[in-house]
Amino acid sequence: MGQLFLFYKMEEKRNIKSYTYSDLEDILVDAGFPKFRAEQLFREIYLSNRSNFDEVSMINKELRQFLKDNFEYDAFKDVKKQVSVDGSVKFLFKLHDGNRIESVYMPWQNDDEDKPERTTICVSSQVGCGLDCKFCATGTLGLTRNLSTEEIVDQVLVAERYLEHPITNIVFMGMGEPLLNFNSVIRSIEILSDKELTKIRRKKITVSTSGVIPRIPKLTQLDPPVKLALSLHATTNGVRDKIVPLNEKSNISELMNKIENYYRETKLPITYEYIPFDGLNDTIEDAKRLAKIAKRVPSRVNIIPFNDISFTNPTGISAELKASPSERISEFANEIRMFGGTVTVRDTFGKDIDAACGQLALSNRDENV
Ligand code: SAH
Ligand code: SF4
Repeated sequence: MGQLFLFYKMEEKRNIKSYTYSDLEDILVDAGFPKFRAEQLFREIYLSNRSNFDEVSMINKELRQFLKDNFEYDAFKDVKKQVSVDGSVKFLFKLHDGNRIESVYMPWQNDDEDKPERTTICVSSQVGCGLDCKFCATGTLGLTRNLSTEEIVDQVLVAERYLEHPITNIVFMGMGEPLLNFNSVIRSIEILSDKELTKIRRKKITVSTSGVIPRIPKLTQLDPPVKLALSLHATTNGVRDKIVPLNEKSNISELMNKIENYYRETKLPITYEYIPFDGLNDTIEDAKRLAKIAKRVPSRVNIIPFNDISFTNPTGISAELKASPSERISEFANEIRMFGGTVTVRDTFGKDIDAACGQLALSNRDENV
């Protein structure tokens, strides 16, 4: 075992949370430890949610030393949080290279006592985003880099530790386009919803995409699969091109083919996200077209009222975008219902702390949180 110790020490230290359960088994067995130690370690890190190697219990001195010598534990240098009046919490994580990202925790009390409480965290997948959607504060930052697996995993674990209760649902709706950081996103899902752990169920994880067409079929490599949400926001290519520049490289019908295939392969209902903008995409005709699209496979339309991004000092079309009035949003939703579609109008959390959908942009005001 001594020689193997040397071998590991020569390599650059990687974070322990970048490994799946089967990777950990291989690492420990290769280093001469019994296989069952991997299960203990995995459970300690993810279920007991320990803060460092010293807190990990059930392991002997030798294994603890091996872990400390060869692996990092924390993905973040610093964590700050802001609590909203509605109970949601925005986390600000400082990464080891000085970059910063945000996650938002949303509590959700269940009126029905027989049903379990649902608590959701909205995680980031990239530092910033390069896709430049015209309504999104993250888009104004541009892309700095992809997050590593452990930087995604630790958003959930650190939040859970602060909150002192388990998170049941994860949505990839924070900063960044998850399908453009494909490998780390997949790996983080495999780790957090490992079937041996039953910590978070796959069906409780939603990946939201603005429509990276070639990556949608690849997502079915997750078995069991995750839920897919598509940020559609328009029913014609002319309008979608204007507000989601990625659409210029593709088109809605090609996108819908991939989405329908995803449903056929996974049998999980699709979510279509739609922000109604005043005078742009909020007519009854738009609602009819959206209903027609939504009815192609079992799905739900999630209407997200536009969250203000004036703090980014928008220019061009971004400066012209205005939220549809609430009466029009209701009419729009009713029209879809009349056509047999399922619709929810999202209740936005965290407005007072700029933590709502599309508002994560690390404004300077957050510096002193
Ligand atoms: N990049 C992915 C996931 C992150 S964005 C995507 O685009 O789907 C998460 C959701 O917030 C998307 O549906 C996005 O369209 C929406 N969103 C972005 N900016 C918004 C804003 N200002 N108001 C309301 N929703 C917004
Ligand atoms: Fe990126 Fe999503 Fe924002 Fe578009 S909406 S800029 S894809 S984070």
